[in-house]
Amino acid sequence: MSRNQELFDRARGVIPGGVDSPVRAYGSVGGTPRFMVSAQGAYVTDADGRDYVDLVASWGPALLGHSHPAVIEAVVEAARRGLSFGAPTAAETELAEEIRSRVPAAEKIRLVSTGTEATMTAIRLARAATGRDLLVKFAGHYHGHSDGLLAQAGSGLATLALPGSAGVPAPIAAQTLVIGYNDRAAVEELFRAHEGKIAAIITEAAGANMGVVPPAPGFTAFLSDIAHRNGALLISDEVLTGFRSSRSGYAGVLDAAGEHVVPDLIAFGKVIGGGLPVAAVAGRAEIMDLLAPTGPVYQAGTLSGNPVAVAAGLATLTHADEAVYRTLDSVAHTVAAEASAALTDAGVPHVVQWAGTLFSIFFGESVVGGVPDYATATSQDADAYGRFFHAMLGAGVSLPPSAFEAWFVTAAHDDAAIARIVDALPAAAEAARS
Ligand code: PMP
Repeated sequence: MSRNQELFDRARGVIPGGVDSPVRAYGSVGGTPRFMVSAQGAYVTDADGRDYVDLVASWGPALLGHSHPAVIEAVVEAARRGLSFGAPTAAETELAEEIRSRVPAAEKIRLVSTGTEATMTAIRLARAATGRDLLVKFAGHYHGHSDGLLAQAGSGLATLALPGSAGVPAPIAAQTLVIGYNDRAAVEELFRAHEGKIAAIITEAAGANMGVVPPAPGFTAFLSDIAHRNGALLISDEVLTGFRSSRSGYAGVLDAAGEHVVPDLIAFGKVIGGGLPVAAVAGRAEIMDLLAPTGPVYQAGTLSGNPVAVAAGLATLTHADEAVYRTLDSVAHTVAAEASAALTDAGVPHVVQWAGTLFSIFFGESVVGGVPDYATATSQDADAYGRFFHAMLGAGVSLPPSAFEAWFVTAAHDDAAIARIVDALPAAAEAARS
């Protein structure tokens, strides 16, 4: 028996499903999850000693590649000074200033430990600022696992085909109005039907938890306009896209396209922790100042702004310069073009979709015209993706174990790593077809 299988069997005896986050269990692709023991650059190594070119990148944080020397050095140095003080540190201010320098709409920033906390706090702030309760969210958008945000939420819920979560009280679920992404008429209808009651629209800056589904041109500006015309706020969730889609997240991609949107509140995560737990809620100063201790909205965290985690995030952002983003862009385009060519050669219908440097590939006849929303995303051929996934894994390439996720490249994907991906593609494309 493989060591991965032994570890999985043992884990299932003490950890629900053997994993601490559902998608890791390979539920939709089948097979035994690989238990990782180390990661370096573009590669991860499993418990059987096999290495894989990694296209998961810890689901986003490993922007520079795994174990980047500057990040490890910063973490070790910070750890030597103290693991946690429960008191403010200068590095928290430095990280907040670095974030604001890239995203000016983040006038003030509060660090938390997970994206879930960031969106949860953003919603509490929006409700406090507007004195309203209702929240608009889009089907297929994932904003973490707080009670009000699990309706038709994409990510692991899409992977496991769950409409929402058990254990959420109906009155809480009823505060969230779920509609189709990129559907202007549905948004207008909701604001008509619930006049004066909607606190905020929360949207992923670009959908990336049902595969990559960017906003249609003008859609995000439309959301900002309609929210503000109706006294509501716009919350942009950049947990996944932030500092990955571009140097300033998906906001930077919109800016470059001439669509200048200033969200009232923004959630960040993933890259700003460089692989350790850091996330943030940010936005307009007068709204952010509603947070305790300056205001009446309570939010706190024993390990918020943890010095070791902040050191990892700061080192990651400091090293993520223009050259890193050029590399990410070029690696992503090479991998996507090669994969698409192999699928075309094998006669597998598919479409590649982009959000800045972030992309994913949908498989199946129903997606070739493009995927604008969750209904289309769920019509994809997830079984074909599963066969593709396993063929790639067998050839030493680790893709996300679900058809509903983005493919994550890093700046450490060099020619050798790309060559291994390219070599694996023709057989995987054949497997997807059969
Ligand atoms: N928002 C988005 C857009 C995400 O992709 C995620 C996590 N994948 C979250 C929020 C939740 O973040 P976390 O897992 O750190 O709670």
